[in-house]
Amino acid sequence: MSKRSFSALAFATFLACHGALAQFPGMTPAKHFPWSDKSLSPDARADMVIKEMTLDEKIQLLHGPGWQALFAPQESGPLTRAIAILGFIPGVPHLGIPDLQMTDSNQGVSMAGAKGRYATALPSGEAMASAWDPALSYEIGTMLGHEMRAMGFNMSLGSGINMIREPRNGRTFEYKGEDPVLAGTLAGQELKAEKALHLITDVKHYAVNDQDSGRIVVNSIISRRAMRESDLLAFQIALQDSGAGAVMCSYNKINGTYGCENSYTLTDVLKKDLGFKGFVVSDWGATQSTTMAAMAGLDIEMPGNDSFGAPLKKAVESGEVPMDRLNDMVHRVLRTEFDSGIVDYPPQPESPNVMHGFEVAQKTAEEGAVLLKNDREQLPLNASSLRSIAVIGGHADVGVMSGGGSSQVSPAGGNPVPPPPELAKNPMTAFMLVEVYQRSAPLKGIQQEAPQATVKFDSGADPASAAALAKSSDVAIVFATQHASEGMDLKNLSLPDNQDALIEAVAAANPHTIVVLETGGAVLMPWIDKVAAVVESWYPGIRGSEAIANVLFGDVNPSGKLPLTFPKSEADLPHPIHVGPPKPDADHPMPKLAGAPGLIGMAMGIGPFFDVNYDEGLKVGYKWYDAEKKPVLFPFGFGLSYTTFAYSALKITPGDTTTVSFTLKNTGKRAGSEIAEVYASLPESAGEPPNRLVGWTRIDLAPGESKQATVSVSRDRLTVFDEGSDSWKVPAGQYTIRVGASSRNLPLQQAVSFER
Ligand code: BGC
Repeated sequence: MSKRSFSALAFATFLACHGALAQFPGMTPAKHFPWSDKSLSPDARADMVIKEMTLDEKIQLLHGPGWQALFAPQESGPLTRAIAILGFIPGVPHLGIPDLQMTDSNQGVSMAGAKGRYATALPSGEAMASAWDPALSYEIGTMLGHEMRAMGFNMSLGSGINMIREPRNGRTFEYKGEDPVLAGTLAGQELKAEKALHLITDVKHYAVNDQDSGRIVVNSIISRRAMRESDLLAFQIALQDSGAGAVMCSYNKINGTYGCENSYTLTDVLKKDLGFKGFVVSDWGATQSTTMAAMAGLDIEMPGNDSFGAPLKKAVESGEVPMDRLNDMVHRVLRTEFDSGIVDYPPQPESPNVMHGFEVAQKTAEEGAVLLKNDREQLPLNASSLRSIAVIGGHADVGVMSGGGSSQVSPAGGNPVPPPPELAKNPMTAFMLVEVYQRSAPLKGIQQEAPQATVKFDSGADPASAAALAKSSDVAIVFATQHASEGMDLKNLSLPDNQDALIEAVAAANPHTIVVLETGGAVLMPWIDKVAAVVESWYPGIRGSEAIANVLFGDVNPSGKLPLTFPKSEADLPHPIHVGPPKPDADHPMPKLAGAPGLIGMAMGIGPFFDVNYDEGLKVGYKWYDAEKKPVLFPFGFGLSYTTFAYSALKITPGDTTTVSFTLKNTGKRAGSEIAEVYASLPESAGEPPNRLVGWTRIDLAPGESKQATVSVSRDRLTVFDEGSDSWKVPAGQYTIRVGASSRNLPLQQAVSFER
């Protein structure tokens, strides 16, 4: 282990142990109860508990402590047991029902920071998705699960799988791309792994919460078919594959009704059609009513008690919310607690395995890095022939960028880039606007890879000075960042802070200019023709430096593929103009909202109500650009390697599960992995976009090696949602199955028909 990683490890271990407890209060498996019998079903056990509960105890299980608790520290009582006050619901100790201790987990166990505990800062959701690797997602879930349990959390608030309908969405980095099959499959594996470790797991934000600006006042207008085949399909797959116990309903309205009081999405689809037996928890402050929400299918209000505290009790007493429904809410919570194992196998305090966290973070960053351009084999760099390397911009001398908001893991050792004091002192601007870097400096990783070379850093603040350094160096590596955060969308898809001009200036000074992007999602690249190579590293987490250096110098052969399209211009988007809340005036009054007071409301984007009409419908991401025949900068599924692959010999055996086999050959000189993608075109009568992803596989190949690959495509992947009959159908007619390296490079194709 290098000296540098050793000191990082020692420091992280110190933080990991700091604050460790002898045991977790509120979670000790209590004495024996009749419902302690593990051979009974979770439903039977839940029913037995409910019979013993008072009305107050039932209500207490269905809401958080209230925002006020954050500002009123408690000296005694259940809240003293909370790891994070805003992620806590006290249990019912005399019945052996544990506290719920929740944490966000999209980029690591972020609520660990509430008690100053260390957690692994993982790469962003888009980095995870770029690996297209369900086994890696399972590994990530296992690592997260161990860290959560070690700290005493028993419920995770991840994974986020909203569709990238609006690429400027500030939370794109938390999600898993623009395709429901990819996002749902990867989230499913991550959550399955967490559940196997006895955690309650959650999928969010349900549903069509596809932008963050004005998230609490936006009304997402979308057809049922489009919803079922895109946004809701991602949830359907994740839930089926993982058995997740919770679904978080979102802030926004869907077709005029709030996500947390929408009986179509919550009850008709989720609980009835998908057969979801767990509970629905509101996003934080997203509950807008008592009776309407409870009757539509919301089970828990978080983190407040404005609707499901005393008002719910009153509504039950008056009969507005029938006792049966209250019991169903409580039943869902309790059966999920038994089903997940949090009652029978409560977490025990441990120190997180920091080293293992590093390994998973680095593997994810390496598998998730996408090589977008590599002219004249500029990469990988040859360390022995380089005398001088210019490293420019992106605070690459101290760290790598991370995404802001509730998913942000506090950097061990603090933010190495001191924020402007005016932003840091206000909790809301600190939450959203402060750029937080993880302490993993690419400059050091590069220097370690090329010990003989002189490696110099320029901040990039002055393009002329950066260009001068680039001119006198053998190669110039520009780190370009795009900060994004929960609570606000990006103004546009351009790199901020004059970085385009910086890249142009450096590229003009040195033909061997490589751009490493640290972005939440897609960015525009007006300089693309002028640079030699581009690597997308997303927000690469605590081992970003090592991962980036390994990719740049060829210790790792990149294999990541884009989980979202990079458009050429914002004019090509389904919604070229981003819509946010209008300015308040007589026609657009400020709404009165429940549960979103003061400062916290600001982060939720309060303003007058407004609509976003997702009239592109089924055409999300690549499906839009394909249908509209628009050229793109880099298509969905695209990513280069340091070797090359050839596809041949397609064979399709149609059936209930269709088998797609083909031969893949490594035609280059290096070992590499290829993610081979399978798409289907449905019969024209189906009215679908030209291509949909139906499967993929990852194949490792030595130079010159060929392998036969097989992808199984289930019938479900070929269905369309029929609004008239409210059911899924396999349209009659001819299908075309296509196979290749990206959504726009599909050399193999064959027509097939299916018997219905
Ligand atoms: C976010 C959720 C998160 C919750 C708790 C909300 O602001 O939208 O994704 O789980 O906070 O931190």
